[in-house]
Amino acid sequence: MSAYETVIGLEVHVQLKTNSKLFCRCATVFGAEPNAQTCPICTGHPGVLPVLNKHAVELLVRAGLGLGCTITPHSVFARKQYFYPDLPKAYQISQADLPLAQNGQLVITLADGQNKTIRIQRIHLEEDAGKLLHAIGARDLDYSLVDLNRSSIPLAECVSHPDLSTPEEAYAYLTMLKQIFQYLGVSDCDMEKGSLRCDANVSLKPVAQKELGTRAEIKNLNSFKALKDAIYYEMKRQAEILDGGGRIVQETRLWDDARQVTQAMRSKEEAHDYRYFPDPDLVPISLGEAFIKEIRESLPELPDKKKLRFVSALKLTEYDASVLVAEHALADYFESAVKFAGVDAAKPVCNWITNELLGRLNAVSKTISDSPIKPEQLAKLLALVQKGTISGKAAKDVFTEMFDHGGDPDAIVKSKGLVQVGDEATIAKWCDEAIAELPKAVAEFKGGKETAVGSLVGLVMKKSQGKANPQLTRQLLVQKLAS
Ligand SMILES: [Zn+2]
Repeated sequence: MSAYETVIGLEVHVQLKTNSKLFCRCATVFGAEPNAQTCPICTGHPGVLPVLNKHAVELLVRAGLGLGCTITPHSVFARKQYFYPDLPKAYQISQADLPLAQNGQLVITLADGQNKTIRIQRIHLEEDAGKLLHAIGARDLDYSLVDLNRSSIPLAECVSHPDLSTPEEAYAYLTMLKQIFQYLGVSDCDMEKGSLRCDANVSLKPVAQKELGTRAEIKNLNSFKALKDAIYYEMKRQAEILDGGGRIVQETRLWDDARQVTQAMRSKEEAHDYRYFPDPDLVPISLGEAFIKEIRESLPELPDKKKLRFVSALKLTEYDASVLVAEHALADYFESAVKFAGVDAAKPVCNWITNELLGRLNAVSKTISDSPIKPEQLAKLLALVQKGTISGKAAKDVFTEMFDHGGDPDAIVKSKGLVQVGDEATIAKWCDEAIAELPKAVAEFKGGKETAVGSLVGLVMKKSQGKANPQLTRQLLVQKLAS
């Protein structure tokens, strides 16, 4: 397979986060009763007139600007014509020659730490089709049911140039794209709810050859893993054909996740000539400069910039920063906790989040957004450790209590009697007792074995029920033993 270079381009559909559909007022709520969110417009009755949802345009422009695209000031909707039972109008309203956003880019980070820029050809606005159900639960039907709730839901279709060379790059691109769309607030990108879908165009060419080979378009990639697996399979399949002197047929193939293969779709379904033409029911979209400027100025800080700032201003490692920025809500949580705890506490805040909080949330299938410990409470807990009020060990107990039953760290520390004893006279008394009770450790220490002080510290901690300040204890013991 090494004789060939793989060329991959991705077409990604994301559902824009609007309350109503693209051309009517029907709701877009996920999981509604079949056909409950439909009207004559989105079910394609004759004589109805679509009215464009302005918010969908705003979100698409936002997506375009976030990916460095040029916004097309005058763009048009076109009818993409084909027959399918989930498309009662027999055409989909999409964009052809004049998409709303063009010529953007997205930078991905490869496994070796190098960056690679993937060019984005276009992002256009279109409506979704309905959905066919061929089974109910585990029962296969001998007929199909049509649910038109998705019909006319607004989608942004983002088409990359064929700049990706490996399944891993495709995976990184889709991950980054999802991250950016979530930061921009244009889509929740939830693959399980169908709000992020991806098709991959894959072709091979001999390394020395300039022209691209014939590509296959793979559909039905409904997870990140499926994307990677399907491209691997397709690379192998095409290489075997080329090695055997055969030709690749340009076709649409479906990924079969159960069998881990791609399969050609029936040619009847893929032999499309969509006969695009401008939709006569919709006026061209004209965007004023002020409209675009306002959206540009409202863009949030995107993950790559945020990561750089976490490293430079907050002194986090690259690794820590990338864990925190991977999810917008997580980055927000961290920043909010740092606001309460102070910039100097950024590293401990990060440690508590990545070492303790994320693991606990994961174990109970919760996300950072529904964390029972709020950023302010985490900051308070940290302050208690830093002031020496409680020990690091006690802090973990308080953390567990807060996570399981809620509550304020100060109140928990008081009610559980966890306040650390920092009073020198009290600790000195325990130290004297420990020295009297462990003559062997004392002798060892005096004989030069400095680590022997550890068992004395341990005994003091035991006497204090874990409340003695360990640093002060050690210090006092060493002083006493040296005198
Ligand atoms: Zn409708």
